[in-house]
Amino acid sequence: MKVVFATKNENKLKEIREILGDEFEVISMTEAGIDTEIIEDGETFEDNAIKKAETVMKSCDMVVLADDSGLEIDYLNKEPGIYSSRYLGEDTPYTEKNKVILERMKDARGSQRTARFVCAVAAAVPKKYTIIAKETIEGVIAQEPKGENGFGYDPIFYVPKLKKTTAELSMEEKNKISHRGKALRAVAERLKKIYIK
Ligand code: IMP
Repeated sequence: MKVVFATKNENKLKEIREILGDEFEVISMTEAGIDTEIIEDGETFEDNAIKKAETVMKSCDMVVLADDSGLEIDYLNKEPGIYSSRYLGEDTPYTEKNKVILERMKDARGSQRTARFVCAVAAAVPKKYTIIAKETIEGVIAQEPKGENGFGYDPIFYVPKLKKTTAELSMEEKNKISHRGKALRAVAERLKKIYIK
């Protein structure tokens, strides 16, 4: 089934296609001929994902998926949260963002370092309703950055049960356990029940 994913980010699309597999043909906003700028002004991950999916759906009348994700660090009162991509400025490199976070965490010991990646995925179905799923992956903020894979905060997000940061996992390994992987698969299962049966 053909769906639009409300992003212009090619890396994200690659990851999404990998997660959703062959049953879904995922096209980008650009491929669907949509150039709407969507302001993420919601107060929660769910609000932002729903807003993106429904806004794009209204301009193309197709099933539109959108996500909103981020990192919540307990010691920092759940910062950067919904502001994860804008933290310290949209254009600040993640090496710098991660360095600042590690500095702010320098007095946090053991169980004080808990954190999670959160992802909300919305699927706006024309003339029906919007499906929403939110998933997390739990971890701790590492003492230092490690790993070359992934993006964003991956080098400082350590998953104790795997003894690795998410930047040390292959894309396949990460997708199996990630917030985005789990939320997308949950939405995909529900879409399949509606359309493929
Ligand atoms: P979004 O594209 O608005 O959902 O922005 C999500 C932001 O959260 C990203 O730009 C990253 O800063 C952060 N983030 C979300 N998921 C991940 C992940 O899997 N690894 C690393 N950073 C992530």
